[in-house]
This record gives sequence, C-alpha cells and structure tokens, in this order.
Amino acid sequence: MLVHICCSVDSHYFLQKLQGEYPEEKLTGFFYDPNIHPYSEYYLRLLDVKRSCKMLGIDLIEGEYDVDKWLSLVKGFENEPEKGERCGICFDRRFEVSAQKAQEMGESSYTSTLLTSPKKSLDQLQIAGDALAKEFGIAFIAPDYRKASGTQEQNIMAKEDALYRQDYCGCMFALNIQRDQQQKIADELFVPISGQVQPESIEERIEMYEKRWRLEAENIPHKIIKQRF
Ligand code: SF4
Repeated sequence: MLVHICCSVDSHYFLQKLQGEYPEEKLTGFFYDPNIHPYSEYYLRLLDVKRSCKMLGIDLIEGEYDVDKWLSLVKGFENEPEKGERCGICFDRRFEVSAQKAQEMGESSYTSTLLTSPKKSLDQLQIAGDALAKEFGIAFIAPDYRKASGTQEQNIMAKEDALYRQDYCGCMFALNIQRDQQQKIADELFVPISGQVQPESIEERIEMYEKRWRLEAENIPHKIIKQRF
C-alpha cells in the first residue's frame, strides 16, 4: 500500500496503526506536498518524516516539489478559509499524484496520513480519495484512527518521540490568514538577505533537527528543550 504522508505528527501514529491493522501489507511512504511553504518548512517536515519512517522501518519516497503547478491550480482561491475550496483542490492534487504513483508501482491501494489530522474534514478527504482511486483503478483505504481517543494517543506519541510539530497547515495563504487573526506577521515567509539565521526561525529549527539526526546516528544522548525569549 502506498501511504501519502503530510507530516510526521500525523504519519507516525497513522503508520503504526496501519502496521497493526494490515500486518501482511508492505507499506511505502510517499511525501508529496508542494502545498508546504516556504521550501525551508517543506524540508524541515520532510526531515522529520524521514526520521519517523526510519524508526518504523518504512521505505520513503520523496515526490516532486512542483510548487508552481500547485500555485496555478489554486489560483483564484487564495482567500478561501481552511476546509474551503482551496483545500479541496489541494487534496485532489496530492491524491491524484499519489494514486498515479501507486498505480505505477503496481500497488492495489493507497491512503493518506491526512486522514488522521484533527483539523481536516474526513468527508472532504474521503470524496477526493475515492474519486482519484476510481480514476486509477485502485482502492482508497480510509480508516478513522481519530475516534476512540486516537487523537489523544497521537499527541502522546508525538511528544514521546519528540516529533517536530508545525503550527500551520502548510500553504502561504492559510498562514497569512492565521497570522492576521493572531495580529502577527507571517515571518516564516521572510529570510534576511544576509542569510543570517534568526532565533526561532525555520532555519534555526533545521539546524537543530539536523544536529539531532547526527546525534541519533552516533547514539549520543541528547534532549530537546523548548525555551521562549
Ligand atoms: S490550508 Fe492546508 S489543505 Fe488547505 S490549501 Fe492550504 S495547505 Fe492545502
């Protein structure tokens, strides 16, 4: 089964549930998310997904970061709220590429870790996933792992395994709306021309998580501590 992956917090839990429910199935992760902006944030989420898949013994394929194509598809829907029409287009695109990939690989089914995201509409995902599955002659598997305190378990697991938890869905449009509501600047979208790494920036997080990757590879004990200033 090909598993489209959106982020580590969702995939880490979802993949373990799938491993339990489908023990005979070989799962392959597929990180295809050109909706994540800026590229540095995309890279950071991918880095954490790589770590999660390594921990779970799951092969991971990275899709193309075809952000221009994604932007052309959502043109005219920039001001839509989350769960609105832009999100429908975004799911369709990610599912289309995932279903096509699954078909190319000779898989008979595909699914998506978006199904476990508490902020997504399950109905919207099911409709998109089923339609694309039909088009490519495969099945869309849509388990509901949120129910029966699933979301709570997912959060505990994310904390225990020190996963990177982002605080926005992914695209610059939703990010701008969210920061406007918080009366903040979407500073995730700015980088100093000098290339200086700012405190609490995405670039600083990348440095830290890359360091963790090295420490883990060398089995050096470490701990991530969150501080605000
Ligand atoms: S808010 Fe999230 S799901 Fe909706 S369009 Fe943006 S990235 Fe895609």
